Formats: sequence, C-alpha cells, structure tokens
Amino acid sequence: MNDMSALPTENSPATPAGADRDAAYVRISHVTKKFGDFVAVDDVSLDIRRGEIFCLLGGSGSGKTTLLRLLAGFERPTAGSIYIDGVDMGAIPPYERPVNMMFQSYALFPHMSVEKNVAFGLEQEGVERASVRRQVGEILDIVKMAGLGARKPHQLSGGQRQRVALARALVKRPKLLLLDEPLAALDKKLREHTQFELLNIQQRLGVTFIVVTHDQEEAMTLGQRLGVMNRGRIAQVGTPSDIYESPATRFVADFIGSVNMFEGHVREERAAGLRLEVGELGCVVRAERAVSCASGATVWAAIRPEKINISRQPPPAGAAENAVAGTVREIAYMGDMSIYLVQIASGKMLRVTLPNTARGGERPIAREESVWLSWHGSSPVVLTE
Ligand code: ATP
Repeated sequence: MNDMSALPTENSPATPAGADRDAAYVRISHVTKKFGDFVAVDDVSLDIRRGEIFCLLGGSGSGKTTLLRLLAGFERPTAGSIYIDGVDMGAIPPYERPVNMMFQSYALFPHMSVEKNVAFGLEQEGVERASVRRQVGEILDIVKMAGLGARKPHQLSGGQRQRVALARALVKRPKLLLLDEPLAALDKKLREHTQFELLNIQQRLGVTFIVVTHDQEEAMTLGQRLGVMNRGRIAQVGTPSDIYESPATRFVADFIGSVNMFEGHVREERAAGLRLEVGELGCVVRAERAVSCASGATVWAAIRPEKINISRQPPPAGAAENAVAGTVREIAYMGDMSIYLVQIASGKMLRVTLPNTARGGERPIAREESVWLSWHGSSPVVLTE
C-alpha cells in the first residue's frame, strides 16, 4: 500500500497507526453510495475501534451489506472516504486491504476437504506447504474442527460448515473481518451456541469484527457496540444497553425489542424530569430521564413491556401518575415469561411481560381480569423524533 494519507481527526492532524487502542481502527467519513439515483448509503460517518465487535443492525434494504462491501472494496463510495488503520482506502483494491469477508452463504468448495478449503487462500499466495499445514491446523483447532479436516462440506452440519467458513476467513489473519449474517443458516439453539464461540474466537485472536445482521438478538449478544441503520443512514450508535434502554428515536425504540409508545405533550418541565399529558393513556406520565423540550411540545413516551407492573390492586390513593386501569385480553405463555396484552379505556392495547417466577400458590392473572398497570418514573423514555 503506498497511499499513506493520514486519518484526519477533529483536533489533531493524524493518528499514528496502532498508537491507541481506543482510536478509530476503521473510520467511515461521510460515505454515500448511490446506485443510479437510488441512495443505498447516505452520508454515513462511523468510527470502529481496534479489536471490537461492531454489529450493523437494520431492516432489509437499510444499506448494511452495501456498507460492508464498501469496506471490503467491492464497491466504491460515490462520496466520502474510508480509512483503515489510518490509511485512506480510496485507491486500495480489495485484495490489498487488511480485510476478509465471510459471506452470507458460506460458499465452501464442495469437492474439497475441510483442510483444503481452509488452505486454499494460503496456497494461492504461494505459502510454503509445511507452513500452510501448520496454520490450517492451528485455525481448525481454534474453531474446534481439528479431527474433521478430511471431511467434505456435505458431510458436515450447518454449524460445522459455518466454522469452516470462519476458519477460512481467519486463516490469513486479517486485521478486520467482515461477517454478513454469519449465523443466518443455523437453527436457534446452534445460533446461540455459535454466538458465544464467535466471541471466544474473536477475543483469542483480537481481530476487529464488523458483523451485519437483521437479527437484534444476535446483534445484542455479539456486538460490543451496535450501529442501527435505517434507509441508508445510521440512526444510532451505542452499546446494546444504550440502544435498548435509551433509544434516540421512535424508529430505534420500535426496531429494537418491543415497546409501548404513546404520543403526548409536555405539561411541565423540571430538573428532575418531565410530566407529560398523554391522552390515549388517560394518565399523566412522569419521566425522570431529562430531555430538553419546551412546555407544550409534542413528544413520545416509550415504555418497555418488562418495565410495567401488573397488579389486581389499584395504586395507592393519590398516585395519579404512571398508572392506568385495563383488562387483560390475551396471555401468551412463553415458558420463562408470559406476555400480557392489556386493553385500556382508550381502546389501546399495552404489552406487558412478566417472568414466570411463581412456583404455585399464587393465583395467576387470567384473561378478562381487570388489572392496574404501573411503572416507575425511570422507565419511560421521552423521544422528540
Ligand atoms: P438485507 O438485510 O436484505 O441484505 P441490507 O441492509 O444489507 O439488506 P443492502 O444489500 O445494502 O441492504 O441494499 C440496500 C439497498 O440498495 C437496497 O434497496 C438494494 O436493493 C439496493 N442495492 C444494493 N445493491 C445494489 C446494486 N448493485 N444496484 C442497485 N441497487 C442496489
């Protein structure tokens, strides 16, 4: 690579490669990608740290794969720049980038053994045979496929094939591995298991992973940080708990997990939080989390189903806030928890989840029972867009 133009930062002229663990390893700066008139990636700026697992999460067509392909060099940005380890990738072809990509379909060579599949890239590079054998052995050991090296792909389970594909992507020790829906072909149990294995492998090798997925559970388990994409833009970047507990917009609140959302107006703003007039709830919502918005402004209160209590007893007299009466219309038993759909006077249905911790004795709440729903002032998130 001869283009060594330095990574620009806000206040300093350059970040020396490898100097700071927290420095951006990948910097995507105002990148736009158009296909004809269609904008697939729209002015995205994003920093990814060295050694982290970053998940790009979004619905179908939100631009995740296009962003990954731009990083790999299979597409060129219409505008903006990508830096990897401080180097502008503008003029660097895919095969010279310190990047490997693991595709949605694992694309193993069907007629080759596991060992051959993994060795292929090294052999293409003319690596000496003994060294190929040693490196293949090491990486198959890491992905727990030692012993199965002689098998052909059709003699493997989906999870094993996935691990071979991972071994093949890792054997050349890329600094950055791009994974497009890496677990999509696996069933739920295997997916969970493999998620933890991926984490383990990533930690052992210290490779930076960028994972594209539309599966929020996968993103939450794998990603140290997530970027939620919507219509080619990054809607929010944060840790899984940042994104779940403090979504920045209605789109993010609704996309990640389930949420009860109500439109309301700011009645009172104080340092301790807000009071919202919420017509469709028929009660005042007190939200302790501060957001700045003027009295009278239209806002939305988002409350997660697990943060709502359900009780046969009315709240203590005088507690007119954060409580509403309703009737249980549906109960879905999910094993570890149950989902209650509770209809309130306005006709709106609220979703409440409760862990099934009772061991008998207590009479469970049944369909058509009258109940009270209540929540703590720290539960509602107030959204302005
Ligand atoms: P999915 O989860 O369905 O794979 P995604 O978020 O990865 O979706 P992309 O594959 O990045 O989405 O596609 C984003 C948008 O760009 C889509 O509307 C897609 O049709 C469009 N697109 C992608 N590649 C091309 C192309 N080569 N030519 C024209 N349009 C394209």
